[in-house]
Amino acid sequence: MNEISERQKNLLEWIEKGICPLSELVERLTDFFRTKLEDEPLSPDWVDFWNMNRDRMVRFLPSSLSRRIDEELKSIEMVNGEIWDIRVNNGTRITFLLGAGSSAPSGIPTVDKLLLEMWKRARKIGRDDLDRLAEWCNKHRIMNIEDLLTAAYISNFAAKNRNITSLLDYFLSPMGQQPSEEEKYLLQRRRPVKTLEMDVSAIGFLQDTLQTLFGLLTSTMISANPNPTHNAIVNFIRDHKNTSIITTNYDGCMDQAILEAGLRLKRTIAGENEEGDIDAVELVKMHGSINWSYCESCQDVREFDLLKLKDTYEKDELSYPVMGICKNCGGMRRPLLVPPLSFKFLMFPNLVDIWNSARQSIEESDYLIIVGYSFSEADTYITKIISRSMTKNKNQKMIIVNTDSKLVRYLRERFQSRVDGFDRKRILQACKNCEEILPEILDSMLGKRSGEKENKSTRKSTKKKVRELNTDNLPV
Ligand SMILES: [Zn+2]
Repeated sequence: MNEISERQKNLLEWIEKGICPLSELVERLTDFFRTKLEDEPLSPDWVDFWNMNRDRMVRFLPSSLSRRIDEELKSIEMVNGEIWDIRVNNGTRITFLLGAGSSAPSGIPTVDKLLLEMWKRARKIGRDDLDRLAEWCNKHRIMNIEDLLTAAYISNFAAKNRNITSLLDYFLSPMGQQPSEEEKYLLQRRRPVKTLEMDVSAIGFLQDTLQTLFGLLTSTMISANPNPTHNAIVNFIRDHKNTSIITTNYDGCMDQAILEAGLRLKRTIAGENEEGDIDAVELVKMHGSINWSYCESCQDVREFDLLKLKDTYEKDELSYPVMGICKNCGGMRRPLLVPPLSFKFLMFPNLVDIWNSARQSIEESDYLIIVGYSFSEADTYITKIISRSMTKNKNQKMIIVNTDSKLVRYLRERFQSRVDGFDRKRILQACKNCEEILPEILDSMLGKRSGEKENKSTRKSTKKKVRELNTDNLPV
């Protein structure tokens, strides 16, 4: 496979910085496209750039060059062709990993939208606070709600315990493992006493807004319904039982799609209908769920009927139990929603089991289909499980379904730098909206239709036919 050159990467990075004078941009673009090797692929990042700037650029670029860029952009492989060649058989083990992006089409807001919503609804939050929060999220590249909640929890926790830096370092290192000498040294070097305190003060006000945030968040999550992504997964599972689903989302979209299809769930927090039920769908909710709750006093964990919970909420017959009373001991119950930080899991033994089954599913898979999951910094534990699994299991492949065109490039570089002889083709890209592309990919894997490949091969075969016709026309 031909690769994107350093020159192309540098040019894109320079453009992304957004400080390129027009004349220089025209000059560098012209130079790059004139001298680019014909078989060097173009990064999908060009698509956004060109869509946004085409009108302005064509006025300054020679028309032949504009046409050439138009042409070349058509050839960018947003969805790797290899994906359409994958077929599953009974022995093929599939694991889905769902992140925030898979629920976004169900109307669960991203941080940007949530902040806007907060501003509209929560009068007591000042505009300045909100601006600071937006700026902070931007600076720390916090895009999804899970990360924002994590930030809120950390700020809350850190504000109460000023001396927790080393404790945090300990807990953020792999679960239960002592850091190696080298790691210890690095941790010490990097120990960001100043930075942490700055962050704590910068996000300190988050504590007050946490409750508002939480209310808004759950109200959007309870009402959210499955989108074509979830339904496509359910359809796939009906035909291919050798599948499990892991999600970092708290919402009930995936659960609902499974239950409404008349299937049963296993690996829930309650641990009912477990191993014996071979037909039940394994759904591992790593960060908890809106319908799980735990008691602060007796630590009892309970799972409420998701569909009932939704129904009574929608009909306004019962409000969502942000705080409830434990039937066991009379203590306070709260929803079990866990920010993606490893130390939190130590507090919930039930979650340790859930995490272990997630790890096992990942390690046993032939294909990891990772949908709308951003590999965020806060989730280092998941990234580590995947890294270890990809390193150990040399035949394992990942299909990354994500609109972020940089993600696959980042992952390929990360694995190449860490794993000797890592084959970049083990990470396949489907850079499109998941609700559009995932149903096609899954049907194609089941051999039900050939998805995009059909279009491609039709295109190719038309060309071939033309050529064949031409030869046919030659004197016989
Ligand atoms: Zn209790």
